Amino acid sequence: MGYVIALANQKGGVGKTTTSVNLGACLANQGQKILLVDTDAQGNATSGIGIQKANIQKDIYDVLVNETPISEVILPTNHPGMDIVPATIQLSGAEIELTNLMARETRLKDALQEVHDDYDFILIDCPPSLGLLTINAFTASDSILIPVQSEYYALEGLSQLLNTIKLVQKHFNRSLRIEGVLLTMFDARTNLGAQVNAEVQKYFGDRVYKTIIPRNVRLSEAPSHGLAIIDYDPKSRGAEVYSQLAEEVLEAHGK
Ligand code: ADP
Ligand code: MG
Repeated sequence: MGYVIALANQKGGVGKTTTSVNLGACLANQGQKILLVDTDAQGNATSGIGIQKANIQKDIYDVLVNETPISEVILPTNHPGMDIVPATIQLSGAEIELTNLMARETRLKDALQEVHDDYDFILIDCPPSLGLLTINAFTASDSILIPVQSEYYALEGLSQLLNTIKLVQKHFNRSLRIEGVLLTMFDARTNLGAQVNAEVQKYFGDRVYKTIIPRNVRLSEAPSHGLAIIDYDPKSRGAEVYSQLAEEVLEAHGK
């Protein structure tokens, strides 16, 4: 049975997509079969792992709104061992359309049942909001990985995120847990990084990953080539740290 992890933080630009794609690819390199689920209308995970818009017949919107079987939507990515449920701009209206549908919070969970056993990990890249798409992701997930950008006000908004997690636990998914908290875009040259690190440690304790993702320009270049960092520049610092994160995640799962 695939273990489902949502990558969430309602702030944009904190590294959700970068982590979804690169953690997924590094886990696949460790022999894990991975399904990436793009639930952001921006489709950054989709394009970032090499899916051309012209090759997308149906996407996550069709799964959530039209109940298209998820197996009809899955595409292989540029990284062996990792498939994707793509997203396109079509998804931008879904929050509103879902409001009026039956079982609006459990649609992704229901859809994933079909392919649950085909993967070791299913990673859901969430949009930068706490709306129905993120609720669907939390309801479908075993756990949540929270990327936190190393910057001023890093913790701002996290109480709303934790509140949403509590609500989903209460109403839809009692066993939902926090997988871990990941510091991203860390800049070792400033004191700020160390301060944010201390603050996040104080708040989340041992749920913070030992692996810290530094700023690495190669990580920001890789998506425009449609490649995961380990394929774009396997010797980069970015490739090294995401491989390390994958090992930490596997260890936490006894693998
Ligand atoms: P989110 O999905 O949370 O909005 P992204 O993963 O898309 O965030 O990251 C936001 C931007 O920052 C992207 O342009 C991405 O390429 C870049 N980025 C993410 N992580 C790093 C990093 N560790 N070093 C440098 N650039 C990064
Ligand atoms: Mg994103």
